Amino acid sequence: MRLEADIVVVGLGPTGFAAAIAAARKGKKVLALESKDKIGGVMTRCPGMPWGAGYPLDKPIGGIFTELAESMLSVEPPMARKIYSSLANFGPEVVYDHNIAINKMYDMLEEAGVDFRLNAVVYDVTMDDNNINHIKYYDMLGQHEAYGKMFIDGSGDGIIASAAGVPFQKGNEEGLMMGGTLTFIMKNCDTDKIFSYEDPYYEEFATKGVLDGELPEDMKKLYLMPAFRDGEVYFNNVNVQGVDGTDPFSVQKATREGVKKAETVIKWLKKGGIPGFEDAQMYHMGAEVGVRETRKFEGLYKLTIDELRNAPRYEDGIVCCDNPIDDVAREDDVMTHEAVVEKGKYYHIPFRVCVPKKVENLFFGGRNLSVDTYSFATVRGMPQCFAMGQAAGTAAVQCIDADVPVQEFNAEGLVKDLQKQGVNGIGEEEL
Ligand SMILES: Cc1cc2nc3c(=O)[nH]c(=O)nc-3n(C[C@H](O)[C@H](O)[C@H](O)COP(=O)(O)OP(=O)(O)OC[C@H]3O[C@@H](n4cnc5c(N)ncnc54)[C@H](O)[C@@H]3O)c2cc1C
Repeated sequence: MRLEADIVVVGLGPTGFAAAIAAARKGKKVLALESKDKIGGVMTRCPGMPWGAGYPLDKPIGGIFTELAESMLSVEPPMARKIYSSLANFGPEVVYDHNIAINKMYDMLEEAGVDFRLNAVVYDVTMDDNNINHIKYYDMLGQHEAYGKMFIDGSGDGIIASAAGVPFQKGNEEGLMMGGTLTFIMKNCDTDKIFSYEDPYYEEFATKGVLDGELPEDMKKLYLMPAFRDGEVYFNNVNVQGVDGTDPFSVQKATREGVKKAETVIKWLKKGGIPGFEDAQMYHMGAEVGVRETRKFEGLYKLTIDELRNAPRYEDGIVCCDNPIDDVAREDDVMTHEAVVEKGKYYHIPFRVCVPKKVENLFFGGRNLSVDTYSFATVRGMPQCFAMGQAAGTAAVQCIDADVPVQEFNAEGLVKDLQKQGVNGIGEEEL
């Protein structure tokens, strides 16, 4: 089969979803290809994962993320809640009913007129010099081709950017990627008791669990938080190291290891490892380990952590952020939540980190942008990924209309357009 569109988006996680909607709302014909049977990306692999970093200085970043979050917060009864994280240096987060959120995202894609295809696995591109001519994908019917004027890689792992020859680094300088995590939700928990302890990382309980041989060695700190519904607790630190998210078999093996680890943790909790879980039941586990980090591409610009520490603004700044360095389990159990900027400050993410140097009709973004290792650990929250997608979709439309390659995107025009779309704190505006 041969499909054609103005803009082809790969992946329907937060980045691809927002890219597709932003472009389709401007009247372009958008085709979006998603390899799984459900959209959402990490939201779907790790159901219930809170939206963090959407409220720097406790103010909404705006745009498609805020539209989605508001639609969940304002419905009666509410299907989301804004909570204040107890973990070091994190701001407000949104917890939500993940099925309703995903259904809302399908509605938004349909309302915008995006032609989206599930179970469509993209595996290669065909180039004409520095342009992608078409991409190749397969589904149960066979192999297909998708033609477009512009392409947006929202696949997280950067499947088309890597196939198009954009240079990348996998993981950190030594090639170590952040641990993958198998998440789960427990229900019937005594949350008043569980969230009354002073230490948000439960180190005293967890260290005892490890010394007693009842918890895995790498779990001396726990990373758990209230889930959307009363009596529910969300677990975000059954980590597995050495997973290569670009290799399905590596993810499969890590998932089996994660399930066994999670079972150990649940047994320990129910025995009173942390008082408050005695009557709890596990009722929702992720289908796979969530993959945080694989390829980071070389863009027109590379953000560094030293730069972000100065809370910079950029003329092509597309979203605000004040998230800490959330670096997870590369080699050992180390989990850092070190602040990047002083309290009361935030930085911009410039759009140049989503633009390749050579390929002329491709943007990338989300968890495959052009940043150094520690910047990656602060910019990768889902709200910022929605925002990068929204910017990529908008910029793709502008490049088509102006008939220019992506490297000549119009920073001023992009920022003005995003402001009109409700993105806050960019251009001359402060949050
Ligand atoms: C364990 C874990 C915990 C996290 N905790 C938080 C948190 O608490 N708060 C927060 O805000 N963020 C959190 N994050 C970060 C956040 O979830 C990610 O950075 C974000 O989801 C990245 O969005 P994305 O759209 O770029 O990529 P993804 O969410 O990975 O989406 C990529 C999409 O592309 C699809 N795809 C991949 N390859 C192909 C292909 N070949 N063909 C077609 N489609 C393809 C995938 O199926 C997927 O749907 C966490 C991430 C993980 C893994």
